Amino acid sequence: AKDSGKNCLRIFDPAIEEGAVRRVKLQSLLRVDAERNAFTFVAQPKFDRAGRHTSAEVLVRWNTREFGAVSPAEFIPIAEQSGTIELLGRHALHMAAHLAKQVQEVVGRPLPIAVNLSPRQLRFSGFERLAVHACERMGVHPSQLELELTESALASDAVLPLLQRLRQQGFSLSLDDFGTGYSSLSHLLHLPFQKVKIDRAFVMDMQDNPRARAVIRGTLQICRDLGLTTVAEGVETEAQFQLLSELGVDEFQGYLFARPMPPEQWLALLAKGGAD
Ligand code: C2E
Ligand code: CA
Ligand code: CA
Ligand code: CA
Repeated sequence: AKDSGKNCLRIFDPAIEEGAVRRVKLQSLLRVDAERNAFTFVAQPKFDRAGRHTSAEVLVRWNTREFGAVSPAEFIPIAEQSGTIELLGRHALHMAAHLAKQVQEVVGRPLPIAVNLSPRQLRFSGFERLAVHACERMGVHPSQLELELTESALASDAVLPLLQRLRQQGFSLSLDDFGTGYSSLSHLLHLPFQKVKIDRAFVMDMQDNPRARAVIRGTLQICRDLGLTTVAEGVETEAQFQLLSELGVDEFQGYLFARPMPPEQWLALLAKGGAD
């Protein structure tokens, strides 16, 4: 019985083999491209109920010669496992702080910029310094950055003191993909978040599934009671937007309003008066 595991490895499956080869290649390409900062970033705006810009989220994009554009859904987990995420995350933070600076200049007041953080970035002991430094370098206040964390980042108890320090520095903390983890409600109680982003899966199911609607309604009630701002992600239809507005969601993000776009394009929109 002990040998059966070994035997399994010898079964040849071309699809698995190919996937593994791609993974290994992506992993080493990632390291090289992180070193030379070859990632680009796009910005996807968020809006309030009246259609005014409230902020934008920066999302990484990666183009490779060998594989073309590779989706973050594929390479972020690889970067997370191999440790490259720390360097990538540093670029993302600087990019976000830079955009926060530019946006302030364009609209004449601060609009916060959101950036995604991976669990591994938070485990790096220098993270607080790094984040503060990114802001200082660009001359923006930490409150101009929203740090988006998923529940997977909250697994360790050690993260609580860090989040509290980040909060004290003025960073805004946002709980991303809400509803997809296992113990979301207790996180809301014990951790210093200001915002909750309702996962796209709920937004998608909402119209056909009364249970998804009930979960959203309950989430919104709790957030209201706790004084948290709510954001719905992945809003694709007018009907979803209507329903979410009626339920009291504060902010909206999704293809219905805007796809992720080059930051310059977003700044140009704002310059034309798009912030109002
Ligand atoms: P996320 O943080 O939940 O980001 C939302 C994802 O949904 C983005 O995919 C966005 O392009 C996509 N999206 C936005 N609106 C819609 C919509 O209306 N419909 C649909 N179908 N999709 C929509 P993207 O850019 O491929 O990123 C995927 C995930 O990769 C992100 O999920 C985030 O977890 C991660 N990620 C992206 N950029 C970064 C980064 O700079 N650092 C880290 N650590 N993670 C990142
Ligand atoms: Ca996010
Ligand atoms: Ca999300
Ligand atoms: Ca998501």
